[in-house]
Amino acid sequence: MIRAIRQRLAGKRSADVLVVGAGLAGLYAARELARQGVNVHVLEARDRVGGRTLSHPLLNDTIDLGAQWVGPTQHRVLALARELGIATCPQAHRGKNVLLLGGQRGTYRGTIPALPLAGLAQLQLAIMQIDRLARTVPLDDPASAPRAAEWDALTVGEWLGTKVRRADARAVLRIAVNAIFAAEPEELSFLFFLFYVHSGGGLMSLSEIKRGAQQDRLVGGAQQLSQRMAAQLGERVVLNAPVTAIDYGKQGVTVSTAIGRYHARLAIVAIPPTLAGEINYSPALPRPRQQLTAAMPMGRVIKCLLAYQRPFWRTSGFSGTALCDDGPVRMVFDDSPPTGEHGALVAFILGSAADTWAERPRAERARVVCEQLVRCFGPQAAQPAAYLDQSWASEQWSAGCYVGVLPPGALTRHGDALRAPVGPIIWAGTETAQVWNGYMDGAIESGERAAREALARL
Ligand code: FAD
Repeated sequence: MIRAIRQRLAGKRSADVLVVGAGLAGLYAARELARQGVNVHVLEARDRVGGRTLSHPLLNDTIDLGAQWVGPTQHRVLALARELGIATCPQAHRGKNVLLLGGQRGTYRGTIPALPLAGLAQLQLAIMQIDRLARTVPLDDPASAPRAAEWDALTVGEWLGTKVRRADARAVLRIAVNAIFAAEPEELSFLFFLFYVHSGGGLMSLSEIKRGAQQDRLVGGAQQLSQRMAAQLGERVVLNAPVTAIDYGKQGVTVSTAIGRYHARLAIVAIPPTLAGEINYSPALPRPRQQLTAAMPMGRVIKCLLAYQRPFWRTSGFSGTALCDDGPVRMVFDDSPPTGEHGALVAFILGSAADTWAERPRAERARVVCEQLVRCFGPQAAQPAAYLDQSWASEQWSAGCYVGVLPPGALTRHGDALRAPVGPIIWAGTETAQVWNGYMDGAIESGERAAREALARL
């Protein structure tokens, strides 16, 4: 009897492939391998799957505290949702949007905020220029772009400061950068920014609701993608198993977790690079990989959800969308359930504002967020029926969000180390994707690639 239990345990603790991280990337890779008959285990630090997706009940609805939107060119995530029986519904956007800029409140329709004519012209010109430059950055090797060295020496803030003269156009672009990366323009390499813009199909594709990355929501929440893949994988997914060390060599890998050691021929590490850098490797990883993980912090976001008895802003012709250049909140969207049973708004505190507000009590955050929403949509915003928020920088197993970002110098110096396998270790996660890097779609692309690499080597 004891021998049988030991054998069963021993069997469980060795596999062909160990996947570190049960986010979309890790689960997708594991599922692909399991389908090919590979013996695979997924080791997850948290007591849940889904990583940067986290769905939560709010009144009679399920809302997303993490990733939420999908767009029309995100073919991988849309195909996965279809396969798993998860429907999409359009993001509400009809009506007037609010722009709080330089202390002034204005309204506009469509995607481009209404600025004075000269500001608008400069904004359009800058968007066209960014998209044109972005297309010259190869997705498979951004460091080989013709002007890579020059652009990787600049921050996005510096580029905006010299190329966009008008303060209003620059302010709108700063909001866009803040909204897309959850980081400040001064933190980002211009080359990395251009790569990311190209990867997401252009600046408007990243920013827009209709035809863009925010076009649709997943009914019932984005975490279902992972929950349903995990259900298919069954006992192969091990929760509460943070990986602390990986010993590797010709014989394969030995992975140490809080609940014991696992052996396999290959490991797929599907976690953000900064967290991958916290694992102890023996032998030590090559220097470029170490330097990359040390140089790739995460953006910071606090996602705030406010439920109201009804979507009162719609009655006065507002869409629920707002962009702001002061106050803790940078952007707001209508997050009401498709059934229209009640109203909800989702507000984002980003970058350096998230650093500040993560340290404050939730009640204080709720108060300042409501104050800002009152400035956007009127006094009815002051009294939500429910308030929820999630500070992703305070999450040990995400260390920030939405995505790992690169400061000047890192991409040209250590960018090759992002995907290059080290012995039996294969790297995955949305940060390694070529298309829709930083998004759920990119996470799936990376899982698909990692599984392909593992299969080729087994
Ligand atoms: P993760 O989801 O981070 O998965 C990694 C997993 O590894 C986690 O489960 C983690 O717990 C685990 N882990 C970490 N360290 C260890 C360790 N040492 N040992 C074991 N396990 C470990 N994307 C979109 O497409 N659309 C959106 O609208 C969108 N909005 C977002 C809004 C917010 C607030 C956030 C936070 C993210 C958003 N994203 C969005 C980004 C999207 O969530 C990510 O791109 C995607 O979920 C990343 O998946 P992943 O598998 O690469 O990584």
